[in-house]
Amino acid sequence: VERTFSIIKPDAVKRDLIGEILKRLESNGLSVVASKMLRLTREQAEGFYAEHKGRDFYEPLVEYMISAPIVVQVLEGENAIAKNREVMGVTDPAKAAPGTIRADFALSVRENSAHGSDSPESAAREIAYFFTENEIC
Ligand code: ATP
Ligand code: MG
Repeated sequence: VERTFSIIKPDAVKRDLIGEILKRLESNGLSVVASKMLRLTREQAEGFYAEHKGRDFYEPLVEYMISAPIVVQVLEGENAIAKNREVMGVTDPAKAAPGTIRADFALSVRENSAHGSDSPESAAREIAYFFTENEIC
């Protein structure tokens, strides 16, 4: 089994979609093995998205990510990284496959409701950014 890291982003938390999004992840073979709600500091948001620093969307992305609480999870399952991204759909909700989280709930390319790690290396970094090993069940 594989682990990945997932965020229910501010736009989704504000619209009471936490349960709906977790249900879709769980229904697709992704078990929640750690979860918590928090509000990111600016420093945490900047560090999390450091790979995008300098891009035109970076500063608005940081503002959005600190605008309301988020819920962060570690998900476990077979091919969890790819499965999570499949269930989320692609970044732009207008291009996301019907029935995906982003197609159904995202408001825009920025306010796209969910995050999922894109590689084993990202998953390891992102899990460690928010959780200690003893917080993962
Ligand atoms: P995530 O990393 O959140 O799972 P992703 O891998 O599909 O999404 P990235 O390219 O890593 O997308 O971008 C990270 C986030 O930055 C996106 O999820 C989105 O919120 C925002 N973003 C990316 N591209 C744009 C853009 N062109 N305009 C506005 N926001 C963007
Ligand atoms: Mg990404």
